[in-house]
Amino acid sequence: MLKILTELLYPRRCPICDDIVFPKGKLVCNSCRDILMPLHEPLCYKCGRQITSTGSEFCETCFNYNFNFDKAFSLWPYNNITKTSLARFKYKGRREFADYYADKLYEYFAPLISKLDISALIPVPIHPNRLITRGYNQANLISNILSKKLDLPNISDYLIRSKNTTAQKDLDPISRRKNLKNAFEINQNSKYYNIHLKNILLIDDIYTTGSTADSCSKILKDSGTEKVYVLCIASVRAM
Ligand SMILES: [Zn+2]
Ligand SMILES: [Zn+2]
Repeated sequence: MLKILTELLYPRRCPICDDIVFPKGKLVCNSCRDILMPLHEPLCYKCGRQITSTGSEFCETCFNYNFNFDKAFSLWPYNNITKTSLARFKYKGRREFADYYADKLYEYFAPLISKLDISALIPVPIHPNRLITRGYNQANLISNILSKKLDLPNISDYLIRSKNTTAQKDLDPISRRKNLKNAFEINQNSKYYNIHLKNILLIDDIYTTGSTADSCSKILKDSGTEKVYVLCIASVRAM
């Protein structure tokens, strides 16, 4: 009953065109569903971003810097369509887009994830202050839905953001890393605090320079996690 009422009052919006989804009951319009194509080769073997040259297995960043995570994967390129969609999802309250994103992540990555022996999914946390103003952690919405599909736990209180960092998007890679130093920590009050989480799948919306994923992975590995894999909705193209 409540679900029907909510659907009437707030009909589901399409993550691509932002109109009311047609036909009703779908996560994306029929006319929009084939617009976004998953990332394709050549991809950097480490960070999963699209690279131009087929001559190297790695992008320039991964060639020069050893990230703390083991491997990162993204679903779509970060282009005008995904940029707009993710901005609406993050800043305009379009929480329902998480269903579509998680659905697509599952469709493309479930076979791969099943081979990684993942103990739990962990969303990249946002600072408590930001959680209050935004009302939700966008990565946790995706992580939560995806974890149910994968039948794995989603742990949103284990890794916390203790420092309210300035927005990363305005910083260059070195400043990003500095900005994120000591930004994350393990929550001693989490019920998983003393549980060995062997391999983690870290969930985030956008992969830009990898510095956020890197900082989170460092903390997780320092606290005993063996492998950290990163899964994002979209990633920027590598240089
Ligand atoms: Zn649409
Ligand atoms: Zn790379």
